Amino acid sequence: MPQVPKPPNSERNDPFRLARRLQTAVWIYDTDCQRVAYANEAACKIWGASSEQELKTRDLSVGMSSTVANRLKQYQTDFVERDAKFTETWTLHPNDAPVTLDVVYSGVRMPDGRMSMMCEVIGDSEKTTETLRSTKALLHTDFLIALIAEDGRCLYQNPAARSVLPTEHSRFDEIFFECEQLEKMRSDWSTHGDARSVSKIKTTNGAGWYDFSIKRCLDAATGEQALLVTGFDVSELKTTRDRARFLAARDQLTGCFNRSYLQVQLEEASTRDNCIGYALLYIDIDMFKNVNDTHGHEAGDSILCAVADRLSKQLEGNDILARMGGDEFVVLIARKLNHSALSAKMEALRAELKRPIRCGPLELNVTPSIGVEVLDEYSSKDWTLALQRADLALYEAKRKGRDRFIRYTAQIGAQAEERKWLATETERALREDELDVFYQPRIDLKTNRVVAAEALLRWFHPERGYISPCKYIPLCEEIGIIGEIGAFVLRKACEQLALWQEQGLSIDVSVNVSPKQFQREGFIAVTEKILQNAHVTPDKIELEITESSLIGDSEIVSERIKRLESLGVRIALDDFGTGYSNLAHISRFSVNCIKVDRSVVGELPGSGPLLSLILALAKQINASVVAEGVETDGQLTWLRHKGCDQVQGFYYSKAVPPEELAAVCSNVAKIANRVVS
Ligand code: C2E
Ligand code: CA
Ligand code: CA
Repeated sequence: MPQVPKPPNSERNDPFRLARRLQTAVWIYDTDCQRVAYANEAACKIWGASSEQELKTRDLSVGMSSTVANRLKQYQTDFVERDAKFTETWTLHPNDAPVTLDVVYSGVRMPDGRMSMMCEVIGDSEKTTETLRSTKALLHTDFLIALIAEDGRCLYQNPAARSVLPTEHSRFDEIFFECEQLEKMRSDWSTHGDARSVSKIKTTNGAGWYDFSIKRCLDAATGEQALLVTGFDVSELKTTRDRARFLAARDQLTGCFNRSYLQVQLEEASTRDNCIGYALLYIDIDMFKNVNDTHGHEAGDSILCAVADRLSKQLEGNDILARMGGDEFVVLIARKLNHSALSAKMEALRAELKRPIRCGPLELNVTPSIGVEVLDEYSSKDWTLALQRADLALYEAKRKGRDRFIRYTAQIGAQAEERKWLATETERALREDELDVFYQPRIDLKTNRVVAAEALLRWFHPERGYISPCKYIPLCEEIGIIGEIGAFVLRKACEQLALWQEQGLSIDVSVNVSPKQFQREGFIAVTEKILQNAHVTPDKIELEITESSLIGDSEIVSERIKRLESLGVRIALDDFGTGYSNLAHISRFSVNCIKVDRSVVGELPGSGPLLSLILALAKQINASVVAEGVETDGQLTWLRHKGCDQVQGFYYSKAVPPEELAAVCSNVAKIANRVVS
């Protein structure tokens, strides 16, 4: 038997002895040490090395870009995890001159067990410069580029794709978190040939957001249908955008949804459900402004946060809570509740909100007013209408005295319509000079003469006829035109006064000032201007303010009263006996006249003790007393007997047009003589 010669010992210990026999260039790259661990002769030639030994001493990390280093590391993982093998066109720079080769990379274990990379040259690359550059770009780009077979298998992944997409998912569709998104793209590329979507996918670094573009194409190798996928990381962008969205959707103070996001949520609710029977709540904290004024804005903020917190704890299922701004909140109860269940729910909500709220050392109590719209076939399809109705019901709850909930009814709707009509018509009437001022005489009981007249608004509507100021004055306060109305009356009254003086009729005129008008910023300035332009002395003018005007910040109030006095006008306290009638309070301001409300005068003689008290008080503070609404002999006799200064009422005359006042004056004298005689 011929003896097979044994290789020499040195050769027997060489782990790469087989590779040495290969004609093609082969080297082994030790990824951990970044050095060549082995190279055959052909490889040494390519690397321009004098010997394998010399090549092994080269530190290949010198001048290697971090992208390449990372990629090589990635290859190492790929070899370990999935026994990968890639063919790439690779440009080496052995002695600073580029050599482009097609290389097959595969994993090979080092004798010590570490994974390294076997590089096998399969030919000089005979590619055009263009191809070389594009191949290079494909290798280095951060964009994921992959070719996917129709059945979802990955046919090709560029290094970026390999480093991002987890190896345990061999199929493209497995990396998506949301099937719907993938299905949507699938339907797009099936019908249009391409698809685009920002999707949440599983990556080697956990979940990430990628902007994918997918195009149908043919696999260049097999000619079969395939998909070319490109994607880039938009996770950071997405997080920033989501944060911005969150901020845009939330109220900064309470964290509730804000007004604009409420709309989005409501729209979503109506695409999801048929909302008939759901309850939309408009909630407002009673007298919240007072809390802010008395305890400061921090206390106000604490209350709003507590309210938001308590409301949010009452939510169930798809219920929605939003802060509309200020102290207004909206809740959608996204369930159908029957009448009693709804009432129970509202009571529970109110009780929750009425629990004392801790705010530093303070314990604050608030009450809510709530308007409720139970959605019907119309309001369930129109959120603007639904919110409007809930708001109207809230308005009604406030009007009825606050601290309650009221359900919207058709009647509330009709009243609102009427208010709206009246508001528009009042504005029009003011603009078109349709309003008149009439005058009701005030008679001095000592002289039995008309000494003054109260200017009262009169409006004869072209279609509706006479409309009482009690109807539109509060509305003018609400819609903010009370300043204009008030200025109009004062101007008219001054003009009239000048005219009467010319005619030899010497009387004073009193003009009403509503509480809201009194509180308005520009009130004093407007009044001053009118008085300056008037051809009368201001001491002929009396402004009638109500007791409620004096409530609130007493500093501001007394400052205003002082400024009015400095203008030279007199001050009368109107409707006295109806409100607080806090005598101590009133004595702090200088008041020239007290007008006793007609409800008190009408109760005579029953209200005698109260009237006597008022007369005594007026004497104390040096004010005259006018009894309003005098209609009967009995009232007049009582007032005369008790020393009341002046009277005003239908007994003598109602308010009359200015040109009739002179006649009324002489008539009054006759009546007075008749009474006296
Ligand atoms: P007021 O200031 O208490 O005005 C007196 C009201 O009592 C007037 O009603 C007057 O017509 C009515 N009145 C006078 N004598 C009698 C009487 O003997 N019996 C009865 N039953 N009523 C009598 P009017 O004109 O309807 O005004 C109602 C309220 O509207 C006024 O109450 C006042 O608060 C407001 N108002 C009227 N004109 C103006 C105005 O120019 N500016 C402001 N801010 N409010 C005005
Ligand atoms: Ca008055
Ligand atoms: Ca009055």
